[in-house]
Formats: sequence, structure tokens, C-alpha cells
Amino acid sequence: MQGQMMNRPLLISGLLEHAEQVYPGSEIVSRQVEGGIHRYTYADAGKRCRKLANALARLGVEPGDRVGTLAWNTNRHYELYFAVSGVQAVVHTVNPRLFPEQIVYIINHAEDRYLFVDLTFVALLESFADQLTSLRGIIVMTDRANMPNSSIDGLLCYEELLEAESDQYDWPSFSEESAAALCYTSGTTGNPKGVLYSHRSTILHAQAICQPQALNISSDSIVLPVVPMFHVCAWGSPYAVTLTGAKLVFPGPNMDGESLHQLIDAEQVNMALGVPTIWMGLLAYMKEIGKTLESVESVVVGGAAASQTMIQQFEETHGIFLVHAWGMTETSPLGTISSCSQEMKEMPLAQRYKLQQKQGRPIYGVSIKIVDDDGVELARDGKAFGRLLITGPWIAASYFREDHPENFIEGWFDTGDVATIDSKGYMQIVDRRKDVIKSGGEWISSIELENAALGHPSVTESCVIGVAHPKWDERPILLIVKKSGETLAEAEMIEFLTGKVAKWWLPDAVVFVEELPHTATGKLLKMTLREQYQSYLIDR
Ligand code: ADP
Repeated sequence: MQGQMMNRPLLISGLLEHAEQVYPGSEIVSRQVEGGIHRYTYADAGKRCRKLANALARLGVEPGDRVGTLAWNTNRHYELYFAVSGVQAVVHTVNPRLFPEQIVYIINHAEDRYLFVDLTFVALLESFADQLTSLRGIIVMTDRANMPNSSIDGLLCYEELLEAESDQYDWPSFSEESAAALCYTSGTTGNPKGVLYSHRSTILHAQAICQPQALNISSDSIVLPVVPMFHVCAWGSPYAVTLTGAKLVFPGPNMDGESLHQLIDAEQVNMALGVPTIWMGLLAYMKEIGKTLESVESVVVGGAAASQTMIQQFEETHGIFLVHAWGMTETSPLGTISSCSQEMKEMPLAQRYKLQQKQGRPIYGVSIKIVDDDGVELARDGKAFGRLLITGPWIAASYFREDHPENFIEGWFDTGDVATIDSKGYMQIVDRRKDVIKSGGEWISSIELENAALGHPSVTESCVIGVAHPKWDERPILLIVKKSGETLAEAEMIEFLTGKVAKWWLPDAVVFVEELPHTATGKLLKMTLREQYQSYLIDR
């Protein structure tokens, strides 16, 4: 027997309509690419999104067309999120930090019809515009006064397009299974792979991440997504925040410690989201000038592991709870989260810090499990570790226009991560499968070693990789960026790590470097380092 309830599709345009009607005066504040702060309300944003929808129709954008963006987190990018998906086209956020060849590959692979680009990226675009095969036009996200002189012919102006249109538009209704947004993974090996989110997956994810036991977003929140809108849709935060009508604050192109601190303070931000490197910059800045964050209640950290040092620094210096989350492009991204529970509040701090280092528990809607190489499920005892698999309505079922059957196993997605799960459901990432160090048949977690090294006060950044060893196959070496002006010797570092990790995990060498390479999403580029240091222990 079928239920008899309405089957109204879950559409992204519905989020915006809700915010317009219920929270019309709530603000969206953005630092602009041209400089200065832009401030408007959900009511204003709704009008501009409808103008943009009319402009897209005039440009000939059809349902299913991909519309690319090369843009920072601003109100204009926000408008594109809602208008492009709202007209049943697909917003394709391109990560400008990728190598130009990868950007060309992605735009051509997606067959983007139009590309909306921030002023910052016009020069970048000029260097490869002639290789983009599917584009009908490029729109610069600025007003007439700021339009650049460019070698690209026929650039259109965003504000002019909008000015010419009416703010009346009826958002169409269509299947919630329709594609809404497209994101490519950063592809550290091989070509980037596209993940195509649907309206349904986006809305279910948005609803799930607002929950108190997830990000805890309510209409009283003031949310700063520092995580870029070109990185897994800023972790879905623009949709989730709109759903609650909370105040949304966009950092524009300025993500250095000083700019973030200023914006957080001025807008009284109480929740901020970003990868660890961003917070390292902000923490260092605040330490230098002796400032704290008064308004912030929680900082959400994901994309890479949050170290104990970072968790402790936020807690003890700034009174901020660090919410550790895990996910990936293929998981929309939120899979697990370690939000503040009553149990955590009552725990001794040292125990709580250990727990906070775990990547947390699955949010309702997704399930996770760990399996061995034969696919046999492993114990949830916090000790056994294996391949992390995930399933749920906002987890990718396949890649866009590419077959990778090895990643999709009987309704589960193989994340490529190695993890433990404990009896209360807390998952902890041991490593990416390709980064785990295989020493004499045993495994060493590079993440755990890196975090231990970060505990040393002279260390800014650490990276552990496995390199060739004549006896043990692979042994770990530790690469360190020191704080400026600090002295630190190899022996001192090894002594510091002794007792913090198993003896046989201690790195075979400590190498001090000026800087470490990062991927386009801010992760350590270990593949390059492995190539560079492959024979380091043999040649020594
Ligand atoms: P990329 O495009 O850089 O691969 P993703 O965001 O898809 O970007 O990367 C996902 C990977 O990042 C995960 O599979 C995991 O290895 C790592 N990751 C994400 N969050 C965490 C975390 N909290 N702790 C450790 N690793 C994480």
C-alpha cells in the first residue's frame, strides 16, 4: 500500500524562496573582489537570482547545460548557485588553484556552455581561453566600471546582464533527481573526476548538516564559510545556511589571518568553516597581535586532520570548540562529524582532546563501515583498521562521464581512506590508502606522526611520507617547516616524538624544509614529495 502524501520535489529554488518569505531581512555580507563590503538581504538576493535566471534564459541556457564558475565566495557566486540550479541547469564550480591544464580538461570534459569568472581570474583565463572548446560566452562577475581590458573578445559584464532583466520569474518545477551542481575532485593521480549532485541530494544534505548533532546551524547563526565555494560547494554551507535564514558572511578573495579576523569581528561571526591551513594562518596572526575571537562559538575543520595542537589552541586560548568533520567531494561532503556532546563536556579535557581528534560519527542518512582487502567487515572496536566504505542519499553512485567500477562496491562507495570505527560509532582516519607507510608488513599512520610532530612549539607544518628502505620496504621520514627564527635539530625532534608514538614508528630521518607543497584544496602534496625523496634513505 502506498502512502498518500504529496510528492513535492526537493528543489534548490525552494530553499531561496523559503528564506525570502520567512527571513527576508536576514543578511548576506560579502567582501568584494573589487574591494569593500557588499551587504544585502535574502529578499534582495531572491530578486537578483530571478534577474539572473532571466539573463540565463536570454543567453540560451537550457535545462541540463553546464555553467562554469571560476570565483571566490561572494554574493555573486551565491546568486549563481541558486539561479543556475533554479533554471534546471548545472552550476559547475571550477577550482582556480588547479593547474591550468587541469582547468582546461575540466571545463572541456564538463562541456560548460558559459563561464562566469571573477576579475582575479581573467588573466589566468586569458592564458588558456583558446583551448576551451564548448564555451558560448564568458561573463566577468563585476560592474561596467571595473570591466577589464582583456585579450579575450566579447567578455560580458555580470551587472549589466542583471540590470537588463526583470526580477519576476517563476522557478520551474522538475524532478528532484535532476542534476544541480558539478564538482571535480582535485585529482592528485590521473585526471580529476566529476561528481554530479542532484537537487534531492543537495537538499537532504543541507537538512542533515543543520542538525544540532551536526553543524548546529539555526536562524541565530552567523556563518562564515572560508572553505571555498569551488571546493565541494563550500561543504554545502550556502544551501544549509539559506534553509535556516541565518546570516551568511563571505570572505571574498581575502583568506589571510588579518582579513578573516577583521571580518569575523565586524560581523560577529559565531561559526566558521575551513581547512586546517586556513586556521593555522588565523591562529598565528592572533597570537602575533595578541587578539582572540570573541564572537565565535565553533570552528568546523575538515578536509584534512585537525591536530591536537589546533584543537587545544582554539579551546584554551579562544574558548572555541573545534568541530572535527570528515568528508570528500564524493560525499557532498559531510560524512562524519565530532560535534560537542554532553558526554564530551563532562570528560576530562585530555580525554576530550583525544576524542576530538577522531573524525566523528556518521550523520543520520549515511552509514559507514570498514572492510579488509577481501571486503569482509572489520570490528568496530577502535583498533581494527581497514578500507572505509560509505553509503547514503548524498554519496556519489558513479562519476560524471567516466567509469570507475572499482570505487563502487555493492551500493557502497570506497573512499580510499583507511580508518577505525569504535563501539560508539566514532570513526578515525588512519591515512589515505596511498599515504599509509608499509614498513616490514606493518602499517604506520602518517597523519598520527604528523600530528605528534605538530605538538612541538617550533613546528609550523609537518609532513610524513614513506620512502624506499632496503630492509623494511618503506620507512617514514618527517619533513618539517620550522617557525621563523626557531632552531630545532633532528635529534631533538626524535626525542620529542619518543614515547608519543610506537618506537618503530619513529621517523628514520627529519628533514627541515622552507615550505611544503599543497594540492589545490590545501592538502599536502605527498605524491610529489614521495617522488622527490624516494631514495633519500638509500642515498644518505
Ligand atoms: P580533494 O579534491 O582534495 O581530494 P576532497 O575534499 O574530496 O578533496 O578530499 C577528501 C579526502 O580528504 C578524504 O578522503 C580524506 O582523505 C581527507 N580528509 C577530509 N577530511 C578529513 C579529516 N577531517 N581528517 C583527515 N582527512 C580528511
